Amino acid sequence: MDKFDAVIVGSGPAGMGAAFSILKRKKDASILMLDKRPYSTGGMRNDCKMNFTFPIGFPLEYWDEETADRYLEEVTDFLKPNILSKSNIGTYQARAERLGCSLLEIKQTHLGTDGGLELIKELLAKLKESGVELSLGEEMVGIDNKRKVITTDKREIGYKSILIAPGRQGFHFLQDVMHQLDINYMDNIIDVGIRVETRLEHYPIVKDYYDPKFYFKEKVRTFCTNSGNAHVVKEKYATERGDIWYSVNGHAFKADESKNNGLVNFALLKTVRFTEPLASGQTFAEHLGLLASLMGGGKPLMQRVGDFRLGRRSKVATFNGDLYDFKPTLDACPSDISLAMPSKILRYIWSAMKNLDTIVPGVLHPSTIMYYPEIKLYANKPEYKDEHFQVCEGVFFAGDGAGTSRGITGAWASGIRASLGMLEYF
Ligand SMILES: Cc1cc2nc3c(=O)[nH]c(=O)nc-3n(C[C@H](O)[C@H](O)[C@H](O)COP(=O)(O)OP(=O)(O)OC[C@H]3O[C@@H](n4cnc5c(N)ncnc54)[C@H](O)[C@@H]3O)c2cc1C
Repeated sequence: MDKFDAVIVGSGPAGMGAAFSILKRKKDASILMLDKRPYSTGGMRNDCKMNFTFPIGFPLEYWDEETADRYLEEVTDFLKPNILSKSNIGTYQARAERLGCSLLEIKQTHLGTDGGLELIKELLAKLKESGVELSLGEEMVGIDNKRKVITTDKREIGYKSILIAPGRQGFHFLQDVMHQLDINYMDNIIDVGIRVETRLEHYPIVKDYYDPKFYFKEKVRTFCTNSGNAHVVKEKYATERGDIWYSVNGHAFKADESKNNGLVNFALLKTVRFTEPLASGQTFAEHLGLLASLMGGGKPLMQRVGDFRLGRRSKVATFNGDLYDFKPTLDACPSDISLAMPSKILRYIWSAMKNLDTIVPGVLHPSTIMYYPEIKLYANKPEYKDEHFQVCEGVFFAGDGAGTSRGITGAWASGIRASLGMLEYF
């Protein structure tokens, strides 16, 4: 049986952050990186806009500003981002403040989905060159921490320390691992909302600020804005019973004027936290996703703002009228999102939309599309034993699936933070 100083499960940014950090600190460490996909997937494959300012991507239960900044410095040194310039921020900020909202000014860069893929290739080549063993297309299925062995779909592998960073889509897998290791966890928080798609001229702020971070009342925020050659996409999820539902998402290719489709998309999300009785955010999300899927004939839902305001559903014909002048980039089902979305969430999201339209006039144009549901499932909250996200001897978690991050740079930083604990074991 092969045995390694460090086994890293997941080749997303959390896994990458850990691998490069170990290499930097202990060149001769034996490292194996596994990914269940035949290629490195991970979040850097989607849009790859990276944010370099606290608190974007850093859940406050695990990070304070000083700690995040310390790790962000190492992330920045390694990735050497080309920070995008911004303009007219003061004007938007003043408008937001008048409404009791805020616009956070942050450092960000955007590689695009294609640029992200180039970065992944570069990173994998670097890992190989440095002697890291890469095994793509191999899935971890179980762990026995007494024997220090994991089982994959191909073999058994020994470890001195292990980082498990399977991302949001590894949510169920991570819960299985926690059951096997007898680790307590909570998953009582989720983000639920819509993805908005509109013409660039109806959300011109993106020319001044690529991914503007607005915060509204009642824990609603804008998230993951894409423009240029921008598309709305769907992510597939399966419940434990095998029922399928979709969350929408968005991405854009790297900046290239000749391929600009003139559209913008962004998410408006509301954070929901369950207290008493303590409900699983995952289960709640699945119910919402399945309801939308039921109404949409297996597809996510979409509704034009014009129809929503008139209280009527969108129909296929709605998408051809004179005011409704652009083609949706996602094949979703024209519908009535208010029939599928809990009213409290919808009320806050709509209130945020109205505020946003006052700050950036135009976004509530009748042609604007609201896609539903967009759900973020990164709320596994294991009981960590220390600041390095150790869950039991030699076993560490990091990244979005483990709740230690909400984005590429946060995931990378949490991978570095976990690696510092892993180093103690070899
Ligand atoms: C469409 C889309 C667009 C996004 N855009 C952005 C953006 O622009 N900016 C941003 O900051 N964030 C963005 N995100 C979020 C970002 O992708 C995540 O925050 C980030 O990738 C989390 O990193 P991670 O390492 O935790 O997980 P991931 O990047 O998801 O990587 C996890 C890896 O683990 C592998 N894996 C899972 N289970 C197993 C197993 N059992 N065995 C072996 N391997 C396994 C998966 O195949 C995957 O490659 C986007 C996400 C999506 C879906």
